[in-house]
Amino acid sequence: MIYLDYNATTPLCDAARDAMLPYLNRHYGNPSSIHAAGREARAAVDNARDKLAALLQVKSGEIIFTSGATESCNLAVFGLARSSSSDGSHIISNKAEHSAVLNPIEHLEKRENFEVTWLNVSDNGMVDLDQLADSIRPDTRLVSIMTANNETGVIQPMREISHICRERCVLLHSDMVQAFGKTDVDVSLVDIASFAAHKFYGPKGTGFLCLRSGLPIQPIMFGGAHENRRRPGTENVASIAAMAAAAEWVSSDRETEQERRARLRDQLWKSIADVFPDARQNGDPVGRLTNTLNLSFTGIDSETMLMALDLEGICASSGSACMVGSVRASHVLLAMGLPIERARSAIRFSLGTWTTAEEIAGAAEALERIAKRTKDAREYALA
Ligand code: PLP
Repeated sequence: MIYLDYNATTPLCDAARDAMLPYLNRHYGNPSSIHAAGREARAAVDNARDKLAALLQVKSGEIIFTSGATESCNLAVFGLARSSSSDGSHIISNKAEHSAVLNPIEHLEKRENFEVTWLNVSDNGMVDLDQLADSIRPDTRLVSIMTANNETGVIQPMREISHICRERCVLLHSDMVQAFGKTDVDVSLVDIASFAAHKFYGPKGTGFLCLRSGLPIQPIMFGGAHENRRRPGTENVASIAAMAAAAEWVSSDRETEQERRARLRDQLWKSIADVFPDARQNGDPVGRLTNTLNLSFTGIDSETMLMALDLEGICASSGSACMVGSVRASHVLLAMGLPIERARSAIRFSLGTWTTAEEIAGAAEALERIAKRTKDAREYALA
């Protein structure tokens, strides 16, 4: 099997597995218990919080543990929009966001009388900064723009976006789920940022938010006083410990890995372009994650191509893994204004730490075979 779907999820790294095992075995205490077993578990959670805070250069109290990116994004959007200090009901975002952000905002729009401005996205995937600046109103409560897109890898100019929001005193959330561990992230540019462990070699079902100190947020779940009354529920100690270990591990050689993946990704594109001359890359060719290659095999729908790749033992994706089971035209590519045929024929290859040059060569050979079969089938149909 050649796994080229690292944006969907990543395997657990050894550092994460080693960090979690003790808390699945002998250190099973509840971090809220005051006895020794509880204190051991609490120490693990505190230690993980300190590690993540140090990596992101924030205070430990600014980290809020959650069950993953979907919860982080929901808490960020609902929690800030509905916060008691809220003095506005206007939100700005764009239709190329992940559904973890899109759906909460659409809920606020449809059910809670919020007004939403959806920014235009250019055909290379960038949000329109002039439109952002022009759209901010006195009652704008929140701007939510992801740092890197999960389907195309396109990286938004967060520094400029932050500048526009700060100048006008508007809160900014960024979904940094795909960016962390793959490119430089700077949480000081935003008020709140969302993360998920399984996108950076940690376990699934665990994530965190980084919330600027002093910013009130309304919880979306109610129960105990955990996470400083911002997110109730007994902490997933083992996964939290593993997430912090994975974050340290992935950050240790990020820059070298970034360059290595860019070389492999470009090699893969070159091989594909040779055998599929009609293939087109989607998303800004420069301002994107170095591990991500999103392209349209014009004339071949995504589902057919995914099946052909799967038969060759290659794991790729047609876009957001969360849509698997229903291969629809990608909402991200449609938001970029690409024609429906191009959106319906898109495939995402995403590389990671364990992707080797041999695997890329293997994938290229498989694609050459698929290209030949497709050509033969077309010629047969025309005969
Ligand atoms: N945001 C982005 C950019 C993602 O890529 C994903 C997952 O694909 C999510 C949010 C949601 O993550 P999870 O399903 O782990 O909650």
